[in-house]
Amino acid sequence: MKKIVVIGGGAAGMIAAITAADSAKVVLIEKNDRLGKKLFITGKGRCNLTNACEDSRFFNAVTTNSKFMYSAFYSFDNNMTMDFFEKAGLPLKVERGDRVFPVSDHSSDVIGVLKTLINRNPNIKLMLNTKVSGIMAEGNSVCGVSLDREKRSKYEGKADVRNEQEETMIACDAVILCTGGLSYQLTGSTGDGYQFAKDFGHTIVNTQPSLVPFNIKEHFCKELMGLSLKNVSFNIFSGKKKIFAEQGELLFTHFGISGPLVIKASAYIHRYLDKDITLYIDLKPALSVEELDSRIQKDFNKYINKNFNNALGDLLPQKLITPVIERSGIDLFKKVHSISREERLRLVQVIKEFKLTFAGLRDFDKAIITKGGVNVKEINPSTMESKLLSGLYFAGEIIDVDALTGGFNLQIAWSTGRLAGICAAENP
Ligand SMILES: Cc1cc2nc3c(=O)[nH]c(=O)nc-3n(C[C@H](O)[C@H](O)[C@H](O)COP(=O)(O)OP(=O)(O)OC[C@H]3O[C@@H](n4cnc5c(N)ncnc54)[C@H](O)[C@@H]3O)c2cc1C
Repeated sequence: MKKIVVIGGGAAGMIAAITAADSAKVVLIEKNDRLGKKLFITGKGRCNLTNACEDSRFFNAVTTNSKFMYSAFYSFDNNMTMDFFEKAGLPLKVERGDRVFPVSDHSSDVIGVLKTLINRNPNIKLMLNTKVSGIMAEGNSVCGVSLDREKRSKYEGKADVRNEQEETMIACDAVILCTGGLSYQLTGSTGDGYQFAKDFGHTIVNTQPSLVPFNIKEHFCKELMGLSLKNVSFNIFSGKKKIFAEQGELLFTHFGISGPLVIKASAYIHRYLDKDITLYIDLKPALSVEELDSRIQKDFNKYINKNFNNALGDLLPQKLITPVIERSGIDLFKKVHSISREERLRLVQVIKEFKLTFAGLRDFDKAIITKGGVNVKEINPSTMESKLLSGLYFAGEIIDVDALTGGFNLQIAWSTGRLAGICAAENP
């Protein structure tokens, strides 16, 4: 029987270990004191573990290297994933946007079924509190992993613990590298695997925080903190090129903007980050310029003898009135009846094109995923095996593949983990 080491006990590592153990001996190594630390915080603690969409929507949601995912996805797609978890004793439900959650709404239950499958399997040895410090090769093939002595203090629930506590390396026939990316480093994803891959000549595509809020230069964001704008249109330009335009919900925060629209937009702007980026919010996307103008005229007639700052309450959220007025250039206390047509049209333009100054993405500690990673050109998409080192396999976020929110990133981890597990165990 082949012996396989799986490095990293996150979503990808756990499924890879469970799969490989069908026909091989597996050692699953995790540096934390428990499995699935990141999985625990997914979906706000509810774990949106996949998406029950059609295949084409899955591939559209994969924003980087979707073609690389064909074999992995078709060998273990979203339906098979749901089937796997339900058969393992986890009832699931489908919510808005086809997002799939455990019926219990507890991510701990997702981790629970995976842990049970791992602990019950005599072919899997689990090593917690154990940090891998490198991968070893003989000629052009993997032959083992080296362990970091200090971290290697505790083993969980398996036999012959005492002998192995002195180990500094583990010999094996194949390694599945599932160390994740760089986001939320407290969960253990500190990018160790990138260096292991580099040691054997792999290139790492520039890693950047993604699915992440934006920093904004304007100080008024702080005053607008907590204001959520529903059904606004968010438009992003690089020079004259429109790089994102969508309608939805946007949230002001103390540092800038967040919410579903912004998180989604962050997946599309990485290659423009070194260029000029301009952000516009259309605060009234349902109204054309003419329609908005006549709506404002109606409000102005209603508040004809009021000051300008008291005439916009029907149209805009209270907190937004001051920044809109400031941008319109119209005096706050000007009587509504004396506002000129030209001034009114300027107001219309401010509302249709409310401009914000982009000041960069938030850091990895606020990013749902890492964009970039091990170059897919150096991985065989049908097996997940390295093209540079025989016996080295990759799965999960460490690979340069990523997707939008909605359960798609975990599906990438399940699909690639499953395929790597099968191939690492079965390939001669
Ligand atoms: C706040 C948040 C919410 C999210 N919500 C969702 C969601 O609802 N749905 C969704 O699809 N995606 C979600 N994601 C993304 C998803 O969690 C990740 O894409 C996915 O967990 C990646 O799995 P992975 O196994 O590749 O990596 P990870 O889960 O990061 O696991 C890697 C593991 O490797 C271990 N490790 C690292 N280096 C070593 C080493 N040297 N030795 C031993 N062990 C090591 C780490 O400790 C870690 O446990 C969310 C992410 C975040 C941060």
